[in-house]
Amino acid sequence: MEFRIGQGYDVHAVAPGLPMWLGGVRVPSQTGFVAHSDGDVAIHALCDALLGALALGDIGHLFPDTDERWKGVDSKELLAAVLSLPEYAGWRVVNADITIALQTPKLAPHIAAMRQTLAEVMGIGPERVSVKATTTEHLGFVGRGEGCEVWAIVLIERK
Ligand code: MG
Repeated sequence: MEFRIGQGYDVHAVAPGLPMWLGGVRVPSQTGFVAHSDGDVAIHALCDALLGALALGDIGHLFPDTDERWKGVDSKELLAAVLSLPEYAGWRVVNADITIALQTPKLAPHIAAMRQTLAEVMGIGPERVSVKATTTEHLGFVGRGEGCEVWAIVLIERK
């Protein structure tokens, strides 16, 4: 048996009047994320973790924000594209663990939908996908409501 582990990290700025996509789910909010894509910072961190596990670079390298193809793209498509890379053909995801730091809104009501959505895209059961959310107690740029920070870790195994 061969395993690989990968970690990913991403930050997006928060701004009023933008849609908030997080973990593949539309979260009702007065604010959203500034981005070239739909701004789903959780999926971006997850993609980087998956890419990192096989040392395939990062999401910015694969889907450059200078490329019009990725303008406003649903990040679930980016996640599916990462798992469709030829290098991923021999691998399956064992589990993923994601931590989202966001001051507001509260994410608890959306966690189950995020786990279900991400699991479906990755072709695994939701019991293998953990999504956790925390505020930063009003500290730092997250706490001031200026940004959202996400860390993701994945384990993959050779089929
Ligand atoms: Mg990003």
